[in-house]
Amino acid sequence: MIVIKIGGAAGVNFDAICQDVAALLKEGQRVILVHGGSAETNEISEKLGRPPRFVTNESGFTSRYTDRETLEIFAMVTAGRINTLLVERLQKGGVNAFGLSGVDGRLMLAKRKDAIRIVENGRKRILRDDYTGKIEQVNAGLLELLMNAGLMPVIAPLAISLEGDVVNVDADRAAAMVAGAVKAEQLLLLTNVPGLMRKFPDESTLMPHIPKNGLEQALAFAEGRMKKKVLGASEALDLGVKKVVFADGRIDHPVYSALAGKGTVIE
Ligand code: ADP
Repeated sequence: MIVIKIGGAAGVNFDAICQDVAALLKEGQRVILVHGGSAETNEISEKLGRPPRFVTNESGFTSRYTDRETLEIFAMVTAGRINTLLVERLQKGGVNAFGLSGVDGRLMLAKRKDAIRIVENGRKRILRDDYTGKIEQVNAGLLELLMNAGLMPVIAPLAISLEGDVVNVDADRAAAMVAGAVKAEQLLLLTNVPGLMRKFPDESTLMPHIPKNGLEQALAFAEGRMKKKVLGASEALDLGVKKVVFADGRIDHPVYSALAGKGTVIE
C-alpha cells in the first residue's frame, strides 16, 4: 500500500502523477491519494474579496485562520473543484477513482481547535471560532471497503469534529494519519521542490536521507508550510509507516522517481 499526497503548490504536474498512479494500479499496487488545496483556496478567496489570513502559533507553525466563511470556501475549493477534477483526470486515465473528504462516512475524525493561541506583532492573543482540527482517528475500514470494491480513494483535507462540525485539516498530516491507519509501506509527499533543503532554496543543499532520529534537527531547516511535512513524516513513522519521501511533483514520472528514492527519504 502506498499513500501519495499531492501538493497544491504551483508547478505540480497532475497529469504525470495520475499516469504513474494508473500504471502502479495496473501492477497490482494499492494506492490512496490525498490532496491539498491551500494555494488554490488563497486564489479563490482573493477573487471572492476574502483574502486569506495566516496566523503563527507560539511554536512558530503557520496555519490558515479559518472562520466559518473561510471553511466554506475551503470546502468548496478542495472537496469541490480540486477533488472532482482530480477524479475526472484519473477516470480519463482508466482509474476508477472515488472522491471523498474526511467528512464522508466520518472518514477522518478530528479534535477541533476552538481556541488557538497566536503570536501577532510580538504579542500573544487567543483566536476563537476557528474551524481547524487535528485528526485523531481515520476510518481505515471505509478505505478498505472502497479498495476491495475496485475503487481508488481520493481524499480532500476536511475532517469531522467530535461535535459534528466540518473542520479544515492539514493535508500533509492527514496523509500521514491515513498512511498509518492503513499500514502503508510508504508515504510520498509530492510538492514543487526536489525535497528538504538544508538552506532553502539552494538545491545543492538537498538532504537525500534523514534518519528518524534526525527529524527534530531537520525541522529547523524547514520554513513555513514545509514544517508540516516534517511533522507529518514524524507522525507517519510513529504510526509504523516504514518510509516517507518528500519528492518533486513537477518532473516526469514523479511517483516512480519518488519510489526509487529520488528526493528526501526518511526512514
Ligand atoms: P504543497 O502545497 O505542495 O504541499 P507547500 O507550499 O506546503 O507545498 O510546501 C512546499 C514549499 O515549502 C516549497 O515550495 C518551499 O517554498 C517551502 N520550503 C520551506 N522550507 C523549505 C526547505 N528547507 N526545503 C524545501 N522547501 C522548503
